[in-house]
Amino acid sequence: MCLPETIASFESAEFSRRNLLKYGLSAAVAAALPSSSAKNPIGVKFRKVVDLTHTLGPEFPLFPGAAPFRIEPAVSYEKNGYYGSMLSYWEHSGTHLDAPVHFSPAGLKVDQLPVESFVVPAAVINIAERVKRDADAVVTPDDIRAWERRHGRLPDNAAVLMASGWSARAGSVEAFLNADRSGVMHFPGFSKEAVDFLLTERRISGIGVDTLSLDHGPSKSFAVHYTLLPTNRWGLENLANLEMIPPSGAILFVGAPKVAGGSGGPSRVLAVW
Ligand SMILES: [Zn+2]
Repeated sequence: MCLPETIASFESAEFSRRNLLKYGLSAAVAAALPSSSAKNPIGVKFRKVVDLTHTLGPEFPLFPGAAPFRIEPAVSYEKNGYYGSMLSYWEHSGTHLDAPVHFSPAGLKVDQLPVESFVVPAAVINIAERVKRDADAVVTPDDIRAWERRHGRLPDNAAVLMASGWSARAGSVEAFLNADRSGVMHFPGFSKEAVDFLLTERRISGIGVDTLSLDHGPSKSFAVHYTLLPTNRWGLENLANLEMIPPSGAILFVGAPKVAGGSGGPSRVLAVW
């Protein structure tokens, strides 16, 4: 931890070593602090942290046609003296990020997305009441305007997140996909109109849903994916616990993977406020 680099970034940070010493921390402890806790460019102060991530495993519902998630023992305490597993999975498994290149050949790959877009204000639009009556319900421009009447204009670089109540179904593949007899899935998502509004009238970093897809279940055109991702914004799918965070005022941390050339991937997503 006491690499010269860590110490250098610590010394240049907002909290000087002298300040920490004033608060009773020894120089050794201060130097051992990770540089990220010293650097705080957006001044985040928080009391609560909520994990917006589902636990990923072989049972988690996948979009139809996706390769299964596999986890197999690689080394064991018995044989090797330590433990580890081999993973193989489709990039779009579990709570995950869609990078622009997923639907746009010229779009940014997951390792190219600017980190500034991963620490952003969260705006949660709750359509759960409507979803109880209509599983195919979508977030509309009116939903965004209604949110703004209550909470003020969407902050710049916001992540606009749909809370539909659907994450409660994630324990059952059947309930989460909610396919009818002809195989058409029924779950909520964003409307293309809402995304057009966000892209032209507001400045957002990305959008997120608590369902399998940014587009609602019956979509065959993937209009929301094809509208959003070519603008080099990201999407988040299969989010959890959106009901537990305030509609306005939380900061989202998106722990997207940094795989060279990746189209996205399972991500640890946290909200703090
Ligand atoms: Zn995806």
